[in-house]
Amino acid sequence: NDIKIEKINDNLWEIPKTAGMNVPGRIYASEKIISQLLNDEALKQVVNVAHLPGIQKYSLAMPDIHWGYGFPIGGVAATDFYDGVISPGGVGYDINCGVRLATTSLNKNEISKRIKTLVENLFKDIPTGVGASGAIKKLSGKEIKNILTNGAEWAVQNGFGNNEDLLFTEENGRLKDANPNSVSKRAIERGLDQAGTLGSGNHFLEIDFVEKIFDQEVAEIFGLFENQIVIQIHTGSRGLGYQICDDYLKLLVQSEKKFGFNLPDKQLACAPIQSDEGQDYLSAMKCAANFAWNNRQIIMHLAKKSFQKTFNISEVELNFQLLYDVSHNIAKIEEHIIDGELKKVCVHRKGATRAFSSQNKTLPEKYFDVGQPVLIPGDMGRYSFISVGTSKAMDETFGSSCHGAGRLQSRNQALKIAKGKNLIEELNKAGVTIQAKGMKTIAEEMPFAYKDVSDVVDVMHNSGISKKVAMLKPIGVIKG
Ligand code: 5GP
Ligand code: MN
Ligand code: MN
Repeated sequence: NDIKIEKINDNLWEIPKTAGMNVPGRIYASEKIISQLLNDEALKQVVNVAHLPGIQKYSLAMPDIHWGYGFPIGGVAATDFYDGVISPGGVGYDINCGVRLATTSLNKNEISKRIKTLVENLFKDIPTGVGASGAIKKLSGKEIKNILTNGAEWAVQNGFGNNEDLLFTEENGRLKDANPNSVSKRAIERGLDQAGTLGSGNHFLEIDFVEKIFDQEVAEIFGLFENQIVIQIHTGSRGLGYQICDDYLKLLVQSEKKFGFNLPDKQLACAPIQSDEGQDYLSAMKCAANFAWNNRQIIMHLAKKSFQKTFNISEVELNFQLLYDVSHNIAKIEEHIIDGELKKVCVHRKGATRAFSSQNKTLPEKYFDVGQPVLIPGDMGRYSFISVGTSKAMDETFGSSCHGAGRLQSRNQALKIAKGKNLIEELNKAGVTIQAKGMKTIAEEMPFAYKDVSDVVDVMHNSGISKKVAMLKPIGVIKG
């Protein structure tokens, strides 16, 4: 394509503002990553997003950028709260998809002999599909509305975890002003039997050990030590969130004329934040976000019980602690300094993680002096990273960083490459025990389907946006 790109420095590139763009585009990437992107539709999407009414400073992309619906995945865009728009495509179909990471007192050697049993137990105890076999019975209409309004507080009140967990969850696991009346009947129905379920595909629960520590001081505050067993949970708002996104895209495509927008892509469908449509979407999005936090909270509690059962140890001995829970598909109303002034904006993070710096009042006291944990899963065969947010992120990316490796091969391509391979054995050889519902998921999600996450994480580290704290290696994984 004919998009012009200028190099700002080794890790940052700019697409100059041309007709129709309200701001320039900026992409965090190394030479290697940018060269892979040059003929990618995702760059065009960075340009498209720059057309959004009220967008501030830049249409941003993180180094894990790849094509997504309307907005690229790995995209960050802040719009003026009063004059700007909100766009469901800037949040994504899996509203509040995100990652949580919990630490334990166990080390790798203590569990390596029993890893198969542990993976089997986790697979049995954590429903992947609909909650038919789940710990949660089908919810009543009243219960699900309670979840949509109160998020992870519901799980804690119903015996799935404790108040401490909420402290270590972004937004304490609950966005206020989430009104279930903005959610369709169909969306609610889809959520009734999906609370506490992992879902399929890219969603996973993984057992890792801390292989390397880059920043000892921060690692200690995060409660991390070498060879420690930790778990990562990656899932979102399931069918409920998907339905909400779908419902509002349909509505907003229809209302585009009414608002008089002239957008380069109909997938950028959006509404003024202050319009009825915008407010309704925001409220419904919050409901889905709350459903997702509640989901990850329930799953984490089930995982803790599964660990205790497998190793026959008490809660105190296991010392299972939530390090942090981050969302990577969400729009948030935040205040950021723009042109020297504090301004209220709607930050769309679509396949991007919040990465607030130290001294931010939304952080738990324990992390106040170091910054927010940034959780970056890689793939199930190689590694994942824990980084920490910085003041440079506040200055440059509206307090945001990357969220993963990003796909290298499409699902179909991955399936083709996987033909004739014994993937389970290959993973076993790499030291990873896997249990999944279907071979298709395993094939689609193989490590080779993803970029090397260390390339991505290094761009953010070298840019000073989020600094590396620890590297994790997988030893067990469950998938739907
Ligand atoms: P999403 O698919 O939600 O956009 O991104 C999540 C990220 O998780 C992907 O970009 C990929 O790097 C990572 N990922 C996908 N599957 C696995 C897995 O099984 N284990 C780990 N550690 N990371 C994964
Ligand atoms: Mn995700
Ligand atoms: Mn997801």
